[in-house]
Amino acid sequence: MHIEVRNLNKQFGDFHAVRDVSFTIEKGHLIGLLGPSGGGKTSILRMLAGLETPTSGDIEFLGKRVNELPPQERGIGFVFQNYALFKHMTVFDNIAFGLKIKKQSKEQIRNRVMELVELTGLKGFEHRYPHQLSGGQRQRVAFARALAPEPQLLLLDEPFAAIDAKIRGELRTWLKELIERVGITSIFVTHDQEEAIEVADEIMIINKGQLEQKGSPWDIYKSPETPFVAGFIGESTIIENIGEIRGFENANGWSGTKALIRPEYIEIGKPGEIRLASAAMNGRVKHLHFRGSEWMVEIEVGAAKLITYRSLEKDALHPGEEVNVLVHRAYMFNDSDSWIMENK
Ligand code: ATP
Repeated sequence: MHIEVRNLNKQFGDFHAVRDVSFTIEKGHLIGLLGPSGGGKTSILRMLAGLETPTSGDIEFLGKRVNELPPQERGIGFVFQNYALFKHMTVFDNIAFGLKIKKQSKEQIRNRVMELVELTGLKGFEHRYPHQLSGGQRQRVAFARALAPEPQLLLLDEPFAAIDAKIRGELRTWLKELIERVGITSIFVTHDQEEAIEVADEIMIINKGQLEQKGSPWDIYKSPETPFVAGFIGESTIIENIGEIRGFENANGWSGTKALIRPEYIEIGKPGEIRLASAAMNGRVKHLHFRGSEWMVEIEVGAAKLITYRSLEKDALHPGEEVNVLVHRAYMFNDSDSWIMENK
């Protein structure tokens, strides 16, 4: 176990920013801290780094409590969203910075910097200054600089936020490969669910200071444990009265139960298009949104509104049109439990 956090709390005056958060992280894993703005992600990252003192709780690295250890003694590399490169230093000197502090020899520094320049695809750029680089290149320098002193743990705070959308995807894949190759335990903060799903081995969903769920992107998508997680990862519609949905009438009596339905578990068709039409409900197309590869369709079924997708190959639907709607699966939640219900 590389990192163990137990009952971590952070209060700023009366405000409880992080509430009783506990988790463990395996060595070499890449973890995404995901959640809405103000949820406490950065506060957790800063406490791991030693930049913020926990109000209570324990942080252990490799079985050793580090609560009182200053940041520079924790063996951590940092990357921030705004690069934070030294503007008056070349790429070479930026990457060499942490090594000079460690008082390594000129030759050791040169070897390590050139190794990182190779690893991060910056060969030929060693003598440039930050203003002579693209955003993506600058962020690569920031990664190289953070990795140079061979940290035990890499912390990344919204590392792609300032990068042009066009190259962000490329840089994500690149970073994931780089981290795998180096084999370093890494934690990154993001509020972008797509980014977390694509990059992380494991995601921790943080909301209102609490850890809502931790698991692989697939686990979290497939088995969300709270309505918040289900709504935050992937698209879905919340149904207050699931008993109104055909096939789910049994759920009617369970008080306080909410249901979430994902688009891929909703089948729609023109009358006659659906195989199990006898099990379907009547609905009406409310809106259609063109998504490039398919249509996103909003349907009204009684008081419920559902969202699903329709492929471009099928006959076009029109707003106001009557459709058959079949719901195959719902995610059910009450105060204490979550479960999946299939339409049998
Ligand atoms: P974002 O995605 O916006 O960065 P976040 O999930 O990283 O959000 P934090 O930055 O950890 O959230 O902040 C959590 C809460 O704690 C916020 O409501 C914030 O205003 C508050 N907070 C953070 N730092 C301080 C501070 N030094 N003093 C008072 N309140 C703070």
